[in-house]
Amino acid sequence: MLAHVFLIIEIFSFDIYNKYMVILCLSKNNRNSIYALLGILETYGYFIGKDVYLHEIHSGNSNARIEKNKKHFFLFSFSTKNAQENYIELKKLKNIYKKSVFICGGPHPTGAPHDCLNAGFDIVVQGEAENIINNILQINKNYKICKSGIHANLDAFPPFPLKDPHYSLYIEITRGCPNNCYFCQTTKIFGSRPKHRSIENIIKYCEILIKNKLTDLRFVSPNAFSYGSKNGIDINFNALNNLLVSLYKIIKGIGRIFLGSFPSEVRPEFVNEDTIGLIKKYCSNKNIMIGGQSGSEKILTKINRKHTVKDIINAAKISLKYGLLPNIDIISGFPFESKKDILQTINLCEALIKYGCKIHIHKFTPLPGTEFESLTTSEFLPELKNFLNKWAGKGRVYGKFN
Ligand code: SF4
Repeated sequence: MLAHVFLIIEIFSFDIYNKYMVILCLSKNNRNSIYALLGILETYGYFIGKDVYLHEIHSGNSNARIEKNKKHFFLFSFSTKNAQENYIELKKLKNIYKKSVFICGGPHPTGAPHDCLNAGFDIVVQGEAENIINNILQINKNYKICKSGIHANLDAFPPFPLKDPHYSLYIEITRGCPNNCYFCQTTKIFGSRPKHRSIENIIKYCEILIKNKLTDLRFVSPNAFSYGSKNGIDINFNALNNLLVSLYKIIKGIGRIFLGSFPSEVRPEFVNEDTIGLIKKYCSNKNIMIGGQSGSEKILTKINRKHTVKDIINAAKISLKYGLLPNIDIISGFPFESKKDILQTINLCEALIKYGCKIHIHKFTPLPGTEFESLTTSEFLPELKNFLNKWAGKGRVYGKFN
């Protein structure tokens, strides 16, 4: 009976008085996800500095003294590229905070949940965190892998913690992508039907940023020019125009809007005189990020890009005409790329550089949960390496390729 009473008291104090800490593991690679998570947690009554703290993965510093002998929740978010450094940190923390619960989410855990459980995580969140994270923290149930579906309404959650808007980098305006490029996890994680944060909601949070003297407004979207599009395939020019006009009204003279440049990019077939004209009129971008990916029609089809080489050239020329510097994303290292495909990609890049573009080169990485997860990466052909080295030296190519 006594044991039973103690159990009730423990559960009661755990849930109602929130005795535990929620510790978000921050690195230079997951800053935006962690800041967004701060906003989500705040919606459920967990506030930074009160219930929620940050722990820096690289330095090992925390902004709180974490008691070793209590149960806390450590939250991680990471991509496949950064999985190993997070696993190393997990091991370190688990050795110190033996009573704590270790939870992970983000692109890698979504695609490879068992890999994360094997690495030692107690709970893996697949997909969106918004509608599940509070249950995990409150119910104290023995979850292992949990999936909340893809139902979060972006407007229902702030993109950063209102208690301290300085924990903000970019506002997510669109989530989900219909294109399902076979190398990319976005459609798999967030679904094929895009959902958009409303203009009113975006303006509300931008006004808060401006009030806090954060006057460079940047946005996250899988395809920035698809804002407001119901299917993510047709351009909704009115929605894009209204968004930029509304933003411009509140920022004019005191700050800057960036769209279609880092951290968002645009698909080539969305670049036309109208969409680029809007960027020129309302935004401060000097460049525009365009997903090109290959100079081979065969490869574009094989990776399910649903656009042509001509679309890439067209997008580059229109951007240049309006004085924007196109940065074209290119991927190589697919195991099914032939020498002919790679030479076609080199030819395309040469032409684009000649027009005045920059090339952002990526090495293909098989990502868990995608159609290409079981493929391997091929070494870059010497012809491609030579080409990249030549132009990297002149500042026309960037990215990791050696
Ligand atoms: S690469 Fe871009 S367009 Fe393709 S699925 Fe990913 S987010 Fe969508």
